[in-house]
Amino acid sequence: MLTPFEKFVFFILALISAGFTLHGFVTIIRTIRLGRPAPPLKNLPQAFWKAAVTVLLQRTILRTRKLLSVIHMALFFGLITYAFVNLMDVLEGIVPGFDLVYSGKHVPGAPLALVRAYNLISDVMSGFLLFAITVFLVRRFILKDKALTYRENVLLYPKVKAGGPHKDSLIVGVFVIMHVSAHLMSQAFRLAEGPDPWMPLASFLNSISGASQIGVHIAWWVSIGWVMFIIPYLTRSKHSHFFMAPVNLALAKQNPRGQLDPAIPLKVIDGKTFEPGARVITDLAWKRILDAYACVQCNRCQDVCPANFYGRPLSPSALEVNKRYLLKDATFGGHPELLQAPLVEKVISPEAVWSCTTCYACVRICPVGNEPMADIVDIRRRLILEGFELDSGVQSALQSLATNGNWMGKGRRLRGRWAKELEFPIKNAAEEAVEYLWFVGDTASFDERVLPNTRMVARIFHQAGLDFGILYQQESNAGNDVRRVGEEGLFEQLVEQNLAAFGRAQFQRIVTTDPHSFNTLRNEYPQYGGRFEVEHYTMVLLRLLEEGRLTVKQRLSHYLVTYHDPCYLGRYNGVFAAPRKLLERIGVEFHEMPRNCENSFCCGAGGGQIWMGKVPPGERPAENRIREALATLQSYAGNGKKQLFIVACPKDMIMYSDAVKTTGSEGKIEVRDIIQLVAEAVGVVEPVSEAGA
Ligand code: SF4
Ligand code: SF4
Repeated sequence: MLTPFEKFVFFILALISAGFTLHGFVTIIRTIRLGRPAPPLKNLPQAFWKAAVTVLLQRTILRTRKLLSVIHMALFFGLITYAFVNLMDVLEGIVPGFDLVYSGKHVPGAPLALVRAYNLISDVMSGFLLFAITVFLVRRFILKDKALTYRENVLLYPKVKAGGPHKDSLIVGVFVIMHVSAHLMSQAFRLAEGPDPWMPLASFLNSISGASQIGVHIAWWVSIGWVMFIIPYLTRSKHSHFFMAPVNLALAKQNPRGQLDPAIPLKVIDGKTFEPGARVITDLAWKRILDAYACVQCNRCQDVCPANFYGRPLSPSALEVNKRYLLKDATFGGHPELLQAPLVEKVISPEAVWSCTTCYACVRICPVGNEPMADIVDIRRRLILEGFELDSGVQSALQSLATNGNWMGKGRRLRGRWAKELEFPIKNAAEEAVEYLWFVGDTASFDERVLPNTRMVARIFHQAGLDFGILYQQESNAGNDVRRVGEEGLFEQLVEQNLAAFGRAQFQRIVTTDPHSFNTLRNEYPQYGGRFEVEHYTMVLLRLLEEGRLTVKQRLSHYLVTYHDPCYLGRYNGVFAAPRKLLERIGVEFHEMPRNCENSFCCGAGGGQIWMGKVPPGERPAENRIREALATLQSYAGNGKKQLFIVACPKDMIMYSDAVKTTGSEGKIEVRDIIQLVAEAVGVVEPVSEAGA
């Protein structure tokens, strides 16, 4: 079809395009390699296979925004189809006589069914593509969907603030429309023998435009010319995610969700010195740099971020987008000095860094396997190392943890005092062998508001004949939140203290009250050689009921309840069933809130937030959650049952009890620990003095 001169021009342009594309990819790979080492990945062929299946089935994208995700699927499959369509267009251009219209009847030996299928699929996909891209352009530029914007107080890199992502989207959107329309027109112009039933859209256009040889040439050049421009451009734009997202998914975190990568202690690897945490972008692990290239800039992570919801200046999405534009300026923009720019000046404000609750919602929802939360923890680690002035509440919690082993400013000897008020002794696991070592945790050991529940756990374990003990003053805070605040040194000190105490005890497994302790003991202590079977008390209680060691004496059908999944029990560790089965066994009327299980909404206490002295204004996540619970139960409330908000975490007991007061919901809903319901159902009662206290 092309003239010899056109073919010459095509080959030159194709070479130039390939050169720029190669340069783009080499630059990206070199930049990623500037990052510090990440934990080694295992079984890469299998990881790539899994990622390919995930991408093809669009599994991760369908987790949220269902309608838009389906339209995104049309875009995705349309573009995949178009990779093949472009190849065929090029062959039609440069191979004499190669022409697939009219079922390829002018190509000797062309497989009829295959050519028809190709013509039909490419024709229909062209329509889908045009529809899908129009929806996305209208959403971004006409409807100006707020989900694609950032709060005023979120730090944005200058080019992001100036609308860089919008410009990129516009360029690629216009490309898709021009490219697909030009392809369709080139097909339409070829139909000199009338309509082709296997090309309905092109035939329709042909009925308007008629056939034209000059038209074929012009449309072909517009269509393929755009491709030769856009492919190198993609490597330099936010749409690098077309290529990098599948790679990122394949190389995604393999260790447990609840296990942070260790902060690299000051050491030399391959001739480079690495300090703990991250001050500049190249201090991040290479995988975190890859995240920036893989980011779709969809803001799904921002949608689920409790800190962003609360009006804090944190947007996990802005963090990735800022990184991406900084990297672009540093490499393609000729400003390598930006690689040494402090992250807290260019990509995330210090206030945002300290707003994160480490709830993992951003990581869980991200369709391309990004981990903005891991960046935040690394930035915290370096800020702490460099003596950043911390919030006074965090500062005093850390000081107390260092001296007392708890964050509540209590003397170590007081840790087991709550047990003295029980009607029976609790074994000291450091002195006599037990089956279960109960790791009580700080809040459950010291907070007066929670102590009745702690004692109730003990009473129920005792009634069930469980062989258990506690460590009394030898228990230290497990360190989960300390690590997430970025105090890696103190975390390691606490791990050491607890491992030494565990070493002195004889036990078969650990049961914890606090989901945060549960997480770190289960997932992070193995990094330090402490491998134990760790369970949450809801798991143990369920087993005791299933084994008949506890019996439900009274079904609690007079309660109308909903349940809040704590982040560190549910999303991090997948413990969704045990609390729900417990509620089922004790016979309450249970209804799920819209945000449940993996999608549970953080109470706002994690990652050290509970220690923060300053409470910013605005609706707190816990208050929003109470309103969600009330709205959920409202439709079932006509039967006069008492409405309860059930928790399985001592911190949640505090957060939500406060939220009930601050939302003016007293008398409408009551917060109870699941242990209180189990106690009522199995007939374990508090002695009169405690119940009345
Ligand atoms: S971990 Fe939670 S609070 Fe932190 S950035 Fe992600 S979604 Fe926001
Ligand atoms: S980090 Fe993930 S969820 Fe957030 S904007 Fe990027 S691709 Fe979307």
